[in-house]
Amino acid sequence: MNLLRNFTDLKGKKVLLRTDFDVPMVEGKIEDKTRIRSALPSINHLLNSEASVLIISHNGRPKGHDNNLSLKPVAVFLQQELGRNVKFLTDFAQSDFSDLNIFENIRFWKEEEENDVDFAKQIASFGDFYVNEAFAVSHRSHASIVGIPKLIPAFAGLHLEEELKELSQILKSPKRPLVSIIGGAKIETKLPSILNLAKVSDKVLVGGRLMFEVKENLPGNVLVAKDHVEGKDLGEDSIKIFRAEISKANMIVWNGPMGIFEEEKFSRGTREIAQAIANSSAYSIVGGGDSISALNKFELLDKMSYVSMGGGAMLEFLAGKKLPGLEALGYE
Ligand code: ADP
Ligand code: MG
Repeated sequence: MNLLRNFTDLKGKKVLLRTDFDVPMVEGKIEDKTRIRSALPSINHLLNSEASVLIISHNGRPKGHDNNLSLKPVAVFLQQELGRNVKFLTDFAQSDFSDLNIFENIRFWKEEEENDVDFAKQIASFGDFYVNEAFAVSHRSHASIVGIPKLIPAFAGLHLEEELKELSQILKSPKRPLVSIIGGAKIETKLPSILNLAKVSDKVLVGGRLMFEVKENLPGNVLVAKDHVEGKDLGEDSIKIFRAEISKANMIVWNGPMGIFEEEKFSRGTREIAQAIANSSAYSIVGGGDSISALNKFELLDKMSYVSMGGGAMLEFLAGKKLPGLEALGYE
């Protein structure tokens, strides 16, 4: 796998940088900038090397153009943060670039998720090189993740490199007991991870909306929360049982809030679990956009041993699956 870190001849090159700026926004205000910040080292590295940067990212799951999911606020933030002009490009027909450019949410075009070859070709034609700095979407076979790196030389970004080093270490030598905690709200994507994690973990705890969504027979080491608060948070007994399991762990993997933590009334389960992990001396790995913003809200993020930018991607990686976006970079 080629690493951006080892690549020095960048002067005057146009670099397509796929980032994951899928950040929570409320009325155009970015609520959590952790994911944007994780890409700043690569952006600065490229700009300092006098390359021009064309950022490609997505936000949310739009069905066509949706102003609520525009990346314009991210362009504004980057401009302030970097003290440089950032050009915001609203479509993929434009090719009048400056030093630092960011395209509109690539998922506004259905060709992205369809992994359309002509779409990938059109975008690839803008750049000399491609850099993946979007670990969190590297489990998706989308045009900007697997299509473009087939067409032009591709590199792993600085943060992606670090992420792979950390997570592969965990995969190679997990500390036991290993307790995995899965919550959130996407059963279609999370069920396979629950089953795979059950194979490598001593215990898997399931909360969040998933607790109502799992229908199949699960392996004996999977513990699904039983009681709840209005269907929107963990109940008292589940909190107790989960805390007890967490206190026995030497390694903890966590993805997905335990309830609708965005509402104060239903944030207790997530907060209690976060606090239990923070208090534990186990090595803790947490990942996922909403999980990170919950931890930021509780001011507990820096109590975690490692914070992965990936939610689903982290779970798949830790379950030993091959991620298409990494394979496209030649990762073994
Ligand atoms: P992450 O981004 O960390 O991977 P997900 O995106 O899978 O996490 O899920 C986060 C979302 O799940 C949060 O917005 C939260 O409100 C929601 N959620 C958690 N528990 C419930 C529940 N019981 N009912 C509805 N939504 C829930
Ligand atoms: Mg999420």
